[in-house]
Amino acid sequence: MEITCIMCPVGCTLTVTKKGNEVTVKGNGCPRGEIYGKNEITTPKRMVTTIKKYKDGTISLKTSEPIDKNLVTNCLKEINNAKEPKNIKPGEIFIKNILSTNVDIIVTNVNN
Ligand code: SF4
Repeated sequence: MEITCIMCPVGCTLTVTKKGNEVTVKGNGCPRGEIYGKNEITTPKRMVTTIKKYKDGTISLKTSEPIDKNLVTNCLKEINNAKEPKNIKPGEIFIKNILSTNVDIIVTNVNN
């Protein structure tokens, strides 16, 4: 299968082939593309970014690391159900270890 590497703006076209348990990646301009290509065919992951609205403003959030693609919807539900934090600042943890993934939800911006 052909996929575009999204790990940097270059956007190399990767040809990913799976034979049995062996996955080969061609077309990557650097080692990160090989890792991305292998993960896409075995356990695809995504960064999650979102904005949570409160009565008095918004908080921009992102995952500290990519999470399994099939957990993205539940991750967004957990963020939506979280209570409004007091005096939270960019760089602080909004939710620690979301969905037991060892990934945190980090505040990237606060607008009050
Ligand atoms: S393979 Fe490397 S150079 Fe190519 S898009 Fe991915 S990260 Fe960028």
